[in-house]
Amino acid sequence: MTKNLLRQIPKVDEIIKNRAWQDIIKRYPETVAKDALRQYLDSLREDIKKERVLSIPPLEEIISSTYRLAEEQVSPGLKRVINGTGIIIHTNLGRSLLADCAIEAIKNAASSYTNLEYDLEKGTRGDRHNHCLQIIKRLTGAEDALVVNNNAGAVLLVLNTLANGKEVVISRGELIEIGGSFRIPDVMKKSGAILKEVGTTNRTHLRDYEEAVTLSTGLFMKAHTSNYVIKGFTRQLTTEEIVSLGNKYSIPTYFDAGSGLLYPIMGRGAHEEPSIIQELKKGIDIISFSGDKLLGAPQAGIIIGKAAYIEACKSNPLTRALRPDKFTLAGLESTLILYLDESWARQKIPTMRMIFEDKDRLRRRAWALLRKIKHLKGLSSVAVIPMSSEVGGGSLPDVSIPSFGLALEPEMGIERFEKRLRSLKIPIIGRIEKDRLLLDMRTLQREDEKDLIAGIKEALTG
Ligand SMILES: *Cc1c(COP(=O)(O)O)cnc(C)c1O
Repeated sequence: MTKNLLRQIPKVDEIIKNRAWQDIIKRYPETVAKDALRQYLDSLREDIKKERVLSIPPLEEIISSTYRLAEEQVSPGLKRVINGTGIIIHTNLGRSLLADCAIEAIKNAASSYTNLEYDLEKGTRGDRHNHCLQIIKRLTGAEDALVVNNNAGAVLLVLNTLANGKEVVISRGELIEIGGSFRIPDVMKKSGAILKEVGTTNRTHLRDYEEAVTLSTGLFMKAHTSNYVIKGFTRQLTTEEIVSLGNKYSIPTYFDAGSGLLYPIMGRGAHEEPSIIQELKKGIDIISFSGDKLLGAPQAGIIIGKAAYIEACKSNPLTRALRPDKFTLAGLESTLILYLDESWARQKIPTMRMIFEDKDRLRRRAWALLRKIKHLKGLSSVAVIPMSSEVGGGSLPDVSIPSFGLALEPEMGIERFEKRLRSLKIPIIGRIEKDRLLLDMRTLQREDEKDLIAGIKEALTG
């Protein structure tokens, strides 16, 4: 029986004579289409052998399955997802969404030639590092600045430039790990700097630093403990104290600020996050921070501070390996321009907009969404409930933002439903709490709504 069926499987050559095949190869390269067909026939063979299939499917079904497989082969693996988690700077979901003007600038840089390394005034070769310089200087008051690929790269570059072969004094409580792949001690080792940790996990004093100073000390470093808080009996040196030490011993000072909150924003517990402008004013020599965390720009590492040190970083050969591409520079500059006006920044930069979105508006949006999905088949219940969003991205670890969202209870069971949402063409990522799937309105974009409703419907029934 099985052998008989196997013999009846149509041959590739026969199938590609069919008219429907012509439609496939109009849409996909012939090699892709043939691969897809072979893949389908192989799995059909397997199914027959395992007696999961007891008759040869009609040709239309073979062709339509081939379409699906060909489509899979040409669809990029990096795809749009809908973020219902309520975590705004979700590192696993790509961190910050960009402002419209930044997207426009990136598109422009992609489709046209630009003056990336061309000096339009002189008509000669220019420097890509000049592009974001004016706006960064204007916003922060820094003497000079340098943009690299990401903040981990910035930390590596600063340490290698200022402390290769020298000791870097840092508090034990600040030897942070971020997302598992970035640990200050490891980056320090790679930079050639020698770690000199002082103090204890919860308390470090001025005298701990002073006792650590030797002729080999190259740098005093402070790192923002972005993704955790130590509460209770704690003490780390303030920026002012680090600066005073630097002055006393004539040793440069460096602050890895992590998230890159440009100026203090009130509310949302943001007072706990150091602001770049304020920290620089305290007299620290160099600060570095991320582009795609609180700043809401593309992935980048921004180094600002005293001209002599930035100059030294620029002439380090590592800078060539860490240089940002034109898309980063285009998106970053456009985002930074929005910071010239705080209300622009709050309204136009999605990360800022989501942080400050009013919860009553989120509640209204949640009710509107509920009305559109409550009748869907396969849904046991759906309700608007209060929930709390997080900033994420290792920023404001201790802060939760009151929000509203939907709690969906599917008939099929929560685990199966969640998995189906994840396997949609536009996957929907939410949070499971008991038997319900939670979708936080704060991170759902208005433009997501149509696909969100269609996706929920498909996952419930399809
Ligand atoms: C996030 C972070 C980094 C790494 O920055 P990336 O831009 O992700 O490379 C380094 N230091 C601190 C304190 C951070 O919070």
